[in-house]
Amino acid sequence: MNFAVIGSPIEHTLSPAIHYANFNSLNLADTYRALHIRPEELGHIKDVIKQYDLNGFNVTIPHKETIMAHLDFIDQRAIEVNAVNTVLIKDNKLYGYNTDVTGYKQAYTDRFGTMKRNILILGAGGASKAVYRAHSELGDDITIYARREASFETFTDQNFQRLSSLQNLKSFDVIINTTPIGLKNEDLYDVMSLSRNKITEDTIGIDLIYNPEKTPFLYGFEDKMVMNGLSMLVNQAIHAFEIWYDNKHEGDYNTVYAALDKKFGGGRK
Ligand code: NAP
Repeated sequence: MNFAVIGSPIEHTLSPAIHYANFNSLNLADTYRALHIRPEELGHIKDVIKQYDLNGFNVTIPHKETIMAHLDFIDQRAIEVNAVNTVLIKDNKLYGYNTDVTGYKQAYTDRFGTMKRNILILGAGGASKAVYRAHSELGDDITIYARREASFETFTDQNFQRLSSLQNLKSFDVIINTTPIGLKNEDLYDVMSLSRNKITEDTIGIDLIYNPEKTPFLYGFEDKMVMNGLSMLVNQAIHAFEIWYDNKHEGDYNTVYAALDKKFGGGRK
């Protein structure tokens, strides 16, 4: 089968490496291309599908929302986060899904279980919506911090507490960074004026960033309580693969994770 990721820019995407690690492990001769599709070219997506004989594709910046107008069916989760990152092509019809939600949820529950918790999400962009949806599905009590009030209105539902400042914070069971702060090793505690004094040895710290492997934010938590974004990244790809194969093939999470962990973490366990 033939797959791709569409986006602009697309040079730095890890998706081909992730999917080929999975194909190779499963002895599949499938292909996966990175295709540079500019916003003005998205209207010709059916020609692109034909040209590369695609069975499915991933969608990245800046097409996750705009692709929705070109689809025949959109999964409920993708509607709820207003973003599609995976498209299945079947009988000339296009089906849209969001595996960032399921990928994050899988990564989180595999690591920390399904216990109901008191969650603080830092940031209110695209990734925040996937994380919010996952924790909503788990029945958690959710607070979202955004620096701009208008950001809260971009969520399709408002079943969360709003926070516009991190001063005088109450305690949370889990704190998740969904902002890019830390990509360049910036200290989130300084940038957001977040005090470490509410973080205990039992507080879970999650950063969606995976490179660097451990951001300054994660250093505020006990080692055994932290998770970076790598398991979400791998799970979202594995879930896309399983959608394309109509769940007839299980993706090889462990092999793909090990390949990426080697790339970003030097093979650390
Ligand atoms: P995005 O849509 O641009 O959202 C970024 C959010 O961060 C916005 O709400 C932005 O607020 C907020 N933000 C930025 N600087 C801030 C600051 N100083 N204080 C408070 N809020 C701040 O980006 P995204 O797609 O959600 O991605 C966010 C991060 O998640 C990136 O690092 C990305 O690499 C990572 N990510 C990882 C995975 C994975 O699989 N591991 C998946 C998706 C994303 P404003 O709107 O006010 O600017």
